[in-house]
Amino acid sequence: MEQQDIDRKKPDVIVVGAGFAGLTAARELTRQGFSVHIVEARDRIGGRTWLDHRLGRNLEIGGTWVHWTQPYVWAELKRYGLGAVASPEPERAFWWADGGRQEGAPGTLLQLIGKYNHELVKDSREYFPEPFRPLARDAFKEIDHISVQDRIREQFPAGSSRDILESFWALNFNGPLEDAALTQALRWVALTNGDWAVNFEACATYKIEGGTAALADSILRDSGAGIDYGFTVAGISDDGGSVTVRSYDGRTISARSAIVTVPLHVLPCIAFEPPLPPAKADGARRGQVSKGVKVWIRLRGEHAPFVALGQADWALNFFQVEYTLDGDTIAVGFGPDASNIDATDPAAVQAHLNRLVPGAEVVDVATHDWVSDPLAGETWPMHRTGFLSAHLAALQAPHGNILFAGSDIANGWGGFIDGAIESGMEAALEAAALSAAASGTALTDKN
Ligand SMILES: Cc1cc2nc3c(=O)[nH]c(=O)nc-3n(C[C@H](O)[C@H](O)[C@H](O)COP(=O)(O)OP(=O)(O)OC[C@H]3O[C@@H](n4cnc5c(N)ncnc54)[C@H](O)[C@@H]3O)c2cc1C
Repeated sequence: MEQQDIDRKKPDVIVVGAGFAGLTAARELTRQGFSVHIVEARDRIGGRTWLDHRLGRNLEIGGTWVHWTQPYVWAELKRYGLGAVASPEPERAFWWADGGRQEGAPGTLLQLIGKYNHELVKDSREYFPEPFRPLARDAFKEIDHISVQDRIREQFPAGSSRDILESFWALNFNGPLEDAALTQALRWVALTNGDWAVNFEACATYKIEGGTAALADSILRDSGAGIDYGFTVAGISDDGGSVTVRSYDGRTISARSAIVTVPLHVLPCIAFEPPLPPAKADGARRGQVSKGVKVWIRLRGEHAPFVALGQADWALNFFQVEYTLDGDTIAVGFGPDASNIDATDPAAVQAHLNRLVPGAEVVDVATHDWVSDPLAGETWPMHRTGFLSAHLAALQAPHGNILFAGSDIANGWGGFIDGAIESGMEAALEAAALSAAASGTALTDKN
């Protein structure tokens, strides 16, 4: 295809991707006086967060919950005057144990999860004493080959408590546990000072007032960065003085540097010149564990808020009530393997819900298959065994004038909106330093 140069003044930095990492990086740079242009393949900002109108109200199709233990996103909410809205407190709990459905108080289910979980994660701060610097100490390397599943099965006797714990971690990983890194679980819990219950609260309690879109819009507006939608990056080349980003439809744009924020599973689809070094390319090729599903469910009638946890290998293993709407109830469900269920089919969702929640009639469902989405390929990134030792540092490292950011490779709350923002900030600092170094060189050349 014939190439078309985008006719505009060459920006200082190109940002690939308008998720939270890209938007944050753009804002940080424009605030320092750099010119930034964002290229985004979708027709919207937000990436794996997506506030959409479904089932009769606005619903978060992707990333949703934030928490006061997440410093980057919490500071952004304060900066733009956005509040946090609490999800309803569950009044009933359902779970699967001893071959059947059990019902009780939510506190009882929490106690059952906690029976072994406390023991499983108690060393989190020992391995990750500085949770925002996961590579700071080498101790984690001794356990980086261990999967969550192996550790649970080796440490706890077979039975319903172990089953509940496995299901809880399959929920957190949004994927199967065979290759889910124990270090990833411990990194999460270290971020809440070893307290798994606060960690769980962080995952599903407070939503952003006005939705994730309100925060993403605020950051983009604040940045004043230019943005091209429908620009799917096919290749990025760096000749040492300039980085050129090329789309599949033949558009190109050049700048002094670029920040690439695409998800890990998308990175291998972009042709880099010079090619990525093996540790980076291999890390992207190996990918991560999450391949699950999130589905919104409209239930007939009003149901008292409930939480429900099934078995680790069920196609939908977790449900939680979020809203009431015109006399109906809206719940959210999660499952560890998107390929095990057609979550667009109300009957399929009903069949899974029936196993846990009596009398809940599914009226309609809404979902997005993030795993098949070529611009995501995954839900929230959760790392495999060995990833932390072998790939994280390599994936974070610059490649000449090409920098990398994103929740997938964040230091702190990797897998969360908070990690995306943190990583965007760090990449912006690196890009600013690159630009400063380049102008220093230019100045020296002139003198
Ligand atoms: C179902 C689901 C539930 C989640 N729940 C939560 C939650 O409750 N709380 C929480 O904190 N996090 C949650 N997350 C995770 C969170 O949403 C993500 O970790 C975070 O939004 C990722 O931001 P990012 O900027 O790193 O990547 P992304 O948001 O993926 O942004 C990357 C951008 O790059 C674009 N792109 C991809 N390929 C190309 C290309 N070739 N050319 C140009 N552009 C491209 C994409 O379209 C996208 O806009 C959830 C995610 C999902 C999917």
